[in-house]
Amino acid sequence: MSDTLPVTVVIPVSLKDHTSKIEMLLGTAELAFQANGWDVKFKTKIEYVNTPDNKVYDSRGRSRTSLATIPLLRQRAKEITGDPRYRYVIFVCDSIVDANNWVTDTVTVTGTNGESVGSEMISVLSLIGTKSTVGNADGQTWAHEIGHGLGLDHVNDDNNFMAASRHGASGALTGFDITPGQLQTMSTHCKLLTQTGM
Ligand SMILES: [Zn+2]
Repeated sequence: MSDTLPVTVVIPVSLKDHTSKIEMLLGTAELAFQANGWDVKFKTKIEYVNTPDNKVYDSRGRSRTSLATIPLLRQRAKEITGDPRYRYVIFVCDSIVDANNWVTDTVTVTGTNGESVGSEMISVLSLIGTKSTVGNADGQTWAHEIGHGLGLDHVNDDNNFMAASRHGASGALTGFDITPGQLQTMSTHCKLLTQTGM
């Protein structure tokens, strides 16, 4: 299985100083896939956007995610990369918060490290916002979210990279096994994206 995954990383201008860290996190995710047997290369393109930007980022470079925002994420991904879309889109943000709409200030911090639109090659990943548990701006978390975007669900195995949390039931850090079936699913979705577009 040899694949190229074209990735567009969307970065608010306010987070521009963190570009090298973002590249390092992407490199860690790519290496994790390669180390588990998937010959994949990320072909990364960076797009800087001014914030607040069409309801993806707020004025502090945060991203709001909820079921209601999924159509907005799809729309912005197409606006940025083209329709049909042949690229995986990662919206990098300071932190992820949840909100019912984009104008209210009554937001609840979800504390999540990342969100993805399952099987749709779109992820939102946090970079800076503090968090009480591991996983914030962590390359393995980035790989986990890309896994969701490439068609994977959570599994009940603390040794697997698609365990729901980076902390298992015992409190220990979860592992990073990737099964051949998971690699196949990601490769299939990668080919779908690059050959037929979204
Ligand atoms: Zn997950």
